Amino acid sequence: MAKFLFVTDLDHTLVGDDAALSALNQQLQYHREEHGTMVVYATGRSPTLYQALRQQQEMLDPDYAVLAVGTLIYPGNSTTALPEWADYLSLGWDRDAIVAIASQCPDLVSQPQSEQTPHKVSYFLDEAIAPQLLPQLAAQLRDAASNFQLVYSGSQYLDILPKRGNKGTAVGFLQEQLAIAPERTVVCGDSGNDLSMFTPKQSKGIIVGNARPELRAWYQSVQPNHVYLATGHYANGILEGLIQLGFLKE
Ligand SMILES: [Mg+2]
Repeated sequence: MAKFLFVTDLDHTLVGDDAALSALNQQLQYHREEHGTMVVYATGRSPTLYQALRQQQEMLDPDYAVLAVGTLIYPGNSTTALPEWADYLSLGWDRDAIVAIASQCPDLVSQPQSEQTPHKVSYFLDEAIAPQLLPQLAAQLRDAASNFQLVYSGSQYLDILPKRGNKGTAVGFLQEQLAIAPERTVVCGDSGNDLSMFTPKQSKGIIVGNARPELRAWYQSVQPNHVYLATGHYANGILEGLIQLGFLKE
C-alpha cells in the first residue's frame, strides 16, 4: 500500500449514505496517517454551499477543496483561494464582457451572489427554452469573448466559465503541485460535471453505482479501462472501487 491522491465529488458521490461515509472516512484517515495519502474534494458547490455541507456532514478535513466546478481551489480549510489557479483561469477571460451580453437576455435569471465567482457567471435557465437559447447566447458571446464555455446542468443551472475552468483541469494542476503521478490518482464521481476528471486516461476513476444516466452513457460508449463502474452506491461504491483498483486492501 502506498500514497495516492484521492479526489471525490461530494453530492451523490461521497455524500448520500452516512454509515458508508463513516466507514470510508476511517479507511482514508488510516491511509493518510500511514502513507501520506491526500484527500481532495471537487464539487460544483460554491464556498457558501460547501461550508453548509461541512456543517451538516461528518467529513474529513481535505488537503484541498476544488469548488465552484473547478474555478476555485482552496488549500485545506483555508478561506483564501489559490492565486496561481485564478491567474491561470484569468488568461483571456473577460467576465465583464460576458455579463454585459448575458444580462441583455430576459430568459436568464441571475443566481444569488453567493454563486457568482470571479471565474463563474451563473444563471437559472428554464429547460424548455434552453435548447434554442444556448446556441444563440454562445454566438453572441463569441463576438465579444473568446475564452468561455457554457455548462448547462440539472435542467436549470447555466454556468459560464473559462474554457480551462473545470474539475479535470483543477485535478491536473494539483497533481503537478503535489508531484503525484496521474497513475497514483483516483477520481470519483456520479454526474456530467465529473466527466472532465474521468477523461484523462492516466488517472484511475470510480463511478458510483447510483451515477446519473449521462455518466453511465459515457461509460457504456467509451468502455474506459481506467475507470471502474461500482455496484455500491455513494461511499460504498467508492470503497468498493478503491479495493478493486488496488488502492486499499479488503
Ligand atoms: Mg455529484
